[in-house]
Amino acid sequence: MVDLPPKETQFIDWYLAVVEAADLSDKRYPVKGMNVWTRYGMRARRNLDAVLVREIEATGSEAVEFPALIPQTEFAKEKDHIKGFDAQVYWVTRGGLSELDVPLVLRPTSETAMYPIFALWVRSHQDLPLTVYQIVNTFRYETKTTRPFVRIREIHFFEEHTCQLDEAGATERVRSNLAAFAKMATAFALPYVALRRPEWDKFAGAYYSVAFDTPVGASRTLQIGSVHHYRENFSVPYGIRYEAADGSAKFAHQTTFGLSERLLGAIVAVHGDQKGAVFPSSIAPYEVVVVPIPSADAPDVPERAAAEVASRLRAAGRRVFLDEGPDRPGAKYFRWELRGVPLRLDVGRREAEAGTATAVDRYGRKGPVALASLAADVARRLEEFDRTLAERARAAFTASFARASTLDELAGSTKIRVVAWCGQEECGHRIEAALDGALLGTPEEALPIDAGPLDRCVACGRPDGLRWALAAHPL
Ligand SMILES: [Zn+2]
Repeated sequence: MVDLPPKETQFIDWYLAVVEAADLSDKRYPVKGMNVWTRYGMRARRNLDAVLVREIEATGSEAVEFPALIPQTEFAKEKDHIKGFDAQVYWVTRGGLSELDVPLVLRPTSETAMYPIFALWVRSHQDLPLTVYQIVNTFRYETKTTRPFVRIREIHFFEEHTCQLDEAGATERVRSNLAAFAKMATAFALPYVALRRPEWDKFAGAYYSVAFDTPVGASRTLQIGSVHHYRENFSVPYGIRYEAADGSAKFAHQTTFGLSERLLGAIVAVHGDQKGAVFPSSIAPYEVVVVPIPSADAPDVPERAAAEVASRLRAAGRRVFLDEGPDRPGAKYFRWELRGVPLRLDVGRREAEAGTATAVDRYGRKGPVALASLAADVARRLEEFDRTLAERARAAFTASFARASTLDELAGSTKIRVVAWCGQEECGHRIEAALDGALLGTPEEALPIDAGPLDRCVACGRPDGLRWALAAHPL
């Protein structure tokens, strides 16, 4: 038995315990912040990546893969970018026994790997838009406490990079990425807010950044993705120039879209409960676990029937695990609950003889399924499970926000605070100081709650230039 710490009051301890007990990651690798993907965790990751690939390719993006090592000379070309990443990069300075003439950076993100080559690929307006993505490992020398999936040093990273004709084209790509992310998040049943980050918190080198934050309890948020508009900030230093239709030379406008295994961390954090992980069927390593219930007088009957159930479901395209191990059924129930499998099918002698199985979903709802209509019955139960999971997540999401009308209300807040803000940096920092947290930014879409009138800045009290902003404690 594993006793998980209470999620409500000891969220971080609970999260770490679930990741470990559900066997999603092995943190015993002897480099801090570089964890091993277990077989079970890897299944979740591949299902997650499949959703990302499906949705991004539906928008016309194509896969590429660039090298992991970047020459210092290329890395240093965009000054804000290098300043933002300088303290976070790993260096390769030797090759065998020799010092390298030009030290190499282990990519922390791939702008500086891709853009010298984009400058060769982009010649004419007919080469645009250039829209490519890669899913690779990136490396960041994280100095804070590392946590599986959430803050790590070797990151499983999805990054899209695009070159557009002009600023409007890049703005349109940002919109398209926001729409693609909405579909991905729906597949994972992850509610989130898309926020334009304040100037002081945008991506190093960006014109502006939009980030996706999901609440993970008690005023905490987790950034689960971001989209950046670069304008010409990188195309000028990297020489990504093209000949326009009228013969003039122009610089491309660029965008990027970044996601990582933080999505998996968010899925664990948002959907998990006091019994362990809970996976939406879209990315569950196994959608169904089949458990034979031993019978003393007919030992083979449940095993055979359970194997038949598993094989029929696999033939119907389901991800199924047949748990034939020696443990008692109770131990198996407990293990698969901890690991977050959406649906369990128990097959005992009685079920075997009647041509049925007993379905139990991760929320404990029970009922019979008939072998004759197995695939359809299981599909219906998984849909019902996914619907409940999404509803629970949505209700918890909505309950995470509350308006604050004065700076005093921010202190010690257990909610993500919605405030009216005049847009001045000084007021932004006063909000952050009052909360002892961060101003996450201004919503790109409607507020998640009805916050009342947008009347005066929570910090300076002025009624001018007002917009909504969200403030919380990023994890
Ligand atoms: Zn103000």
